[in-house]
Amino acid sequence: MRGLTWCRFPPQSWPSGCIGWRQNWSESLGWEESAGDVSHPRIVLIDPEVLHTLSERAYRAGLYEALKCGIIGDFDLFLRFEQKRSQILKRDPVEVEGLIAQSVKLKAEIVSADEQEGGLRRVLNLGHTIGHALEAETGYRSLLHGEAVAWGLIAATNIALTVGRTDSVTAGASRMPCSASAVCRSSR
Ligand SMILES: [Zn+2]
Repeated sequence: MRGLTWCRFPPQSWPSGCIGWRQNWSESLGWEESAGDVSHPRIVLIDPEVLHTLSERAYRAGLYEALKCGIIGDFDLFLRFEQKRSQILKRDPVEVEGLIAQSVKLKAEIVSADEQEGGLRRVLNLGHTIGHALEAETGYRSLLHGEAVAWGLIAATNIALTVGRTDSVTAGASRMPCSASAVCRSSR
């Protein structure tokens, strides 16, 4: 696969899925190990207009990736989920573009600071360790990727709370957008 020219158009992890090729490859296809070492995409496309063609479920699944970016490094982005929730769920163009811009900016900063995956980039895995396990265990059929990540975010938050790495207020704030966006209902 080395040297393969390809373009990236991430429908499920739409807010920032174009940045950081390895995660995206495995997210889309679920076979990271067999994909091996591929080149960066030649072109990446995120067109907010196309998001209107997504189903409600697929749209919401993508939101959890933006929420993850907010939790790991952009408090303003995180607050958007509380303060602009109804506009976000209605796919308000201003809010959608804001989510995309902030998510891409954060992810690009992290990926470019750790292009060889020396350690920093691991923060992008928040919610994904458990999320990937859920996807695999359910045969990549029951959950959309973002839904699995949402469950992973909830689980990671609960683990952090249990081992004393976060407090109950922060944990509640981190879990709330997942509940409010109804991942629990939409992924059944
Ligand atoms: Zn993801």
